[in-house]
Amino acid sequence: MKKKESTIGSTLFMFTGEVDTEFQVKDNSKRIHLLILSPTLEVAKQVTDVLSKYGNLNSDGRPKLHMSSPELVEAIMEIDPWNEVIPAHIWTPWFSLYGSRSGFDRIEDCFRDQTRNIHALETGLSSDPAMNWRLTCLDKFTLISNSDSHSPWPYRLGREANEFELKDTSYKEIVDAIRKKDSKRFVRTLESFPEYGKYHYTGHRNCNVYLSPEEARKCGNICPVCKKKLTVGVLDRVVELADRAEGYRPEGAIPYVSLIPLQEIISNVLGVREVFAKSVWEEYNKLLKKFPNEFHVLLEATREDISSASSERIADAVIRVREGRINFRPGYDGLYGMPILVENNTNQVEEQRKLNDQNKERAKIEPELTSKPKPTDQRGLSDYF
Ligand SMILES: [Zn+2]
Ligand SMILES: [Zn+2]
Repeated sequence: MKKKESTIGSTLFMFTGEVDTEFQVKDNSKRIHLLILSPTLEVAKQVTDVLSKYGNLNSDGRPKLHMSSPELVEAIMEIDPWNEVIPAHIWTPWFSLYGSRSGFDRIEDCFRDQTRNIHALETGLSSDPAMNWRLTCLDKFTLISNSDSHSPWPYRLGREANEFELKDTSYKEIVDAIRKKDSKRFVRTLESFPEYGKYHYTGHRNCNVYLSPEEARKCGNICPVCKKKLTVGVLDRVVELADRAEGYRPEGAIPYVSLIPLQEIISNVLGVREVFAKSVWEEYNKLLKKFPNEFHVLLEATREDISSASSERIADAVIRVREGRINFRPGYDGLYGMPILVENNTNQVEEQRKLNDQNKERAKIEPELTSKPKPTDQRGLSDYF
């Protein structure tokens, strides 16, 4: 958020939380994750009081509630009209509105008459706005992007974000800009590449199988290794429900840029497996000493300035990410996607090999990087037959 003069340098907080609504529709169990935003501490306390009747709010950071999604929306909006409920990571196979495992094909089937109180949808890590633009039915909603950072790793904070330009930095102005999809105030979202997300492709983690939607369809979504049902990924699910061709951009859509967390880029360039390794932190801190923040490095700093603060290889990788010239081993079935920024990086190749139980013809990094992200080292159906 770009803040007015008096708040520059300070961090402002909003009362938010994520809950898991569990309910039955006909004979199907549904588990839908929802974000709740509240305008004040007083209202947040009232929300807590009401929701505590439906589950143990102290059980974990994303408490289970025995109530349906529309019941939750109704209860929350009755407390205060400035509360906001936003379906979380709407394409994740489990726990989401459109998820392949326990979701719905139409938002109205989930929220019923309370659909009128839903203004925004969280795209989640495995999808980006362009994928969502392929569904006409989503045009009326504002697409937002959050880190979904339930773990303590600092590099996961801010991996996705919403950028606002506001005269008055207040809860109400933020929520109003979201509700009105006002691109003058809600100027863009910062996205991780969808291939980075844990559920982009269809696959089986234990069998080390990941397939594009076309390939998954060819084998009837059955794993060619264990012969069980594959976990249908976000890309597959979007393709299934899309009514527009790839590349369509609806009028009034909020722009976005695609990024990877700086520490991921550094660890990738250094060929270090752990993103939190000391050598990664050292490079990270060199950059953060020179530049005001991580987004500045990722979005604005020149190649020369990054290079002089850190190294030419890291500068090249940052620019490559900024320009979208990056390949991935896409995420699937709960495994994060792996960016491939450096050709012939032996550690990366080793890492790729570890992921491959069958250890054949893997770790082939394509030397030619194109301007469009595309999966690499993908195992085709022909690898199994
Ligand atoms: Zn969730
Ligand atoms: Zn399998």
